[in-house]
This record gives sequence, structure tokens and C-alpha cells, in this order.
Amino acid sequence: MTVRDELLEMVASTRALLRTELERGNEVVRVDPHLLERLERIRRPPPSRKLLDRIDSLRRRASGCVKCKLHETRTTVVFGEGDPQARLLFVGEAPGRDEDIQGRPFVGRAGQLLTRIIESIELTREEVYIANILKCRPPGNRNLLPEEIACCLPYLTEQIELIRPRIICALGAFAAQTLLGSTDGITKLRGTFYDYHGIKLIPTFHPAACLRNPGTKKYVWEDMKRIRKEYSMP
Ligand code: URA
Repeated sequence: MTVRDELLEMVASTRALLRTELERGNEVVRVDPHLLERLERIRRPPPSRKLLDRIDSLRRRASGCVKCKLHETRTTVVFGEGDPQARLLFVGEAPGRDEDIQGRPFVGRAGQLLTRIIESIELTREEVYIANILKCRPPGNRNLLPEEIACCLPYLTEQIELIRPRIICALGAFAAQTLLGSTDGITKLRGTFYDYHGIKLIPTFHPAACLRNPGTKKYVWEDMKRIRKEYSMP
């Protein structure tokens, strides 16, 4: 038996033991309610070659995209990043200046706040997936145009089909309205799970909105707790 097999066996038996204790209502397990789920993750097989290849091929297609005018002003296509088998996907609006330069989503001030938000539910950026409605930066960070969304959305749709997350958190009105096909404002949409092709989708305020209006942070925290609960479900 290899060391890896031995570890996997230990993980499996610990998991079984914890599950029994949890079902009995044993408080010891309650100390870390996410332990089971973490053990689950260790046991999960790595992403298949096929999945990685399909994501890579989508990334290459997006990187060469010239479907809308944004390709004329972009520095980099910001495809998205994270665990290709993530249970939780965050969808923002579009890259800003920092993201356009670095080619990574949510790396500016709003991104730093998003990282803290993710960590507040005991996850890391590497354990979730982060993407945007638009893969290219609208000049001067202006609002996204309907024709840009129409050109770019198929990339995100395919990304979602490949990653197959259990939960999508739509950050801000553009992401929520686009994915839900709604015209309601974010204040009305947030805080509830909706069905997005069999995936639970919850809108919340965009981190940039939290920076502008710190009063919204408490609602984001409430939504994160909802996500955390759903995420931990077996
Ligand atoms: N805002 C977004 O919506 N997405 C990013 O990637 C950065 C800022």
C-alpha cells in the first residue's frame, strides 16, 4: 500500500467516524463543521485531463477573441481562475485597470476585499473559481454595453458548463441581472437563492459597492453565511 493510499484510507475512516458522531449530535464534531467537507475535498480525484484540456481550449479561444470592440483597447483577456472543479463560482462584472494589466480577475482594491470575503467563509481563492461577465476591460471602467455582454456571455456559459459549480455568487447588479435575465436591482435580488440551470445562484453586492458604501458589508456577510451553509451540505 502506498503512503497516498494509506492516507486516503485514514481520511475515509475518519470521515465515516465523524459523520456517525455528527449524526449522533456529538458536539466534538461541531468544533469544526467544515472538517467533513475538507476531508471530502482531499479524497476528491484531481481534475481529468479532458476537463483541463477543454478549459484550456476555451481560454485560448477567449484570448484571441475579437467579437466586440473591447479587443481594441484591452491589454489582456481576463479569462478567470481557480479550481476547475470548484463548488463555488464568483461572477463579477468585468476586469478593471489592474485586472487588465495582470490578466487575473479581482486583483485590485475590490479584489482584495473579495479575497477577504472568500476567506471569511473559510475558503481560499484557490478553492473557488472567479470569473466575470466580460473578459475584457471596458475603457475607463464604464458600464458594460448590451452588445458586449451578448458577445462575451457564451464564454462564461461554457465555463459554467465545464466547472459545474454547486453555487454561483453573482457580484453586483450586472452579473445578477445578466445571469437571471432580470431587470430588478441588486438590493431586491440579493439574499435569495435562485435556480440557474440547476445551479443555486445567489446575488450579493459587488465588493466595489462595499468599498463605496460600507453599510452594504453586513448584507454581504449575511449572504456569505447562506453560501457557507449551502456549501457545506453533503
Ligand atoms: N470588478 C469586477 O467586476 N471584476 C474584476 O475582475 C475586477 C473588478
